[in-house]
Amino acid sequence: MKLRKATMAAAALLLPLTGTVAACGSDGGGQAGDDKDKITVGIKYDQPGIGLKTPDGKYTGFDVDVATYIAKQLGYKPDQIVWKEAKSADRETLLQRGDVDFIAASYSINDERRKKVDFAGPYLLAHQDVLVRADDGSITKPSDLNNKKLCSVTGSTSAQNVKTKIAPQAQLQEYGGYSECLTGLENKAVDALTTDDSILAGYAAQDQFQGKFKLGGFKLSNENYGIGVPKGSELKNKINAALEKMVKDGTWEAYVKKNFGPAGYRNEPPPKIGVVVS
Ligand code: GLU
Repeated sequence: MKLRKATMAAAALLLPLTGTVAACGSDGGGQAGDDKDKITVGIKYDQPGIGLKTPDGKYTGFDVDVATYIAKQLGYKPDQIVWKEAKSADRETLLQRGDVDFIAASYSINDERRKKVDFAGPYLLAHQDVLVRADDGSITKPSDLNNKKLCSVTGSTSAQNVKTKIAPQAQLQEYGGYSECLTGLENKAVDALTTDDSILAGYAAQDQFQGKFKLGGFKLSNENYGIGVPKGSELKNKINAALEKMVKDGTWEAYVKKNFGPAGYRNEPPPKIGVVVS
């Protein structure tokens, strides 16, 4: 099609503006940061099999795969995703401040958190457990944790559960991240690390920890992993639709095998969207 010069100049002037308007109205995502062509996703950086930033700057794990699938359904290619670390204690704030569009970070749905953020899902059911040194025979049941040095992460349901029900007499040490707890367990600063079995299985299976740690197998709680979104966000329904599709088309199963298979983690079947197991 031939355009007159003046028309072309006008069109060129309008283009950047039109582009911006189109991107703004695209899909309700991309609110975090200035770049509307990107979507910002909060993940864990120190959980092999779930959310891990590798030394060469790659992102791997079940949550990373699930988030990438969701982003695709929302219209974003992998290179349009900006990953941001979402430590356990920072997740609600990141969403409330609009620093991330959604969070996929071993994020359990519970009533306390629901006061501040909304959740799509659940998309995985895990259970709280303990990781102890392989040669330690003194922790064989949950009550053995009383008077032991137990490490957990600030802002996690795992730390909360220890205080309220699992072992109120345990000497709970709360660290900022799971890798710090793991170092503490290795060098005997703590006797056990407690969090979800899905996370602990990933640690125990790492090359450098082969034969060093074992899981208790206690099933101390139900942890329903949800995708965190800002309160009232229209992303919730879109993400639920993406999660339904992911289970239906076999991708969920494939991601589970790929990410949990190497650690031998025996996962539960896919949860029903909107049904939280208490
Ligand atoms: N799923 C638990 C939680 O949301 C423990 C794992 C974590 O801290 O991310 O708190």
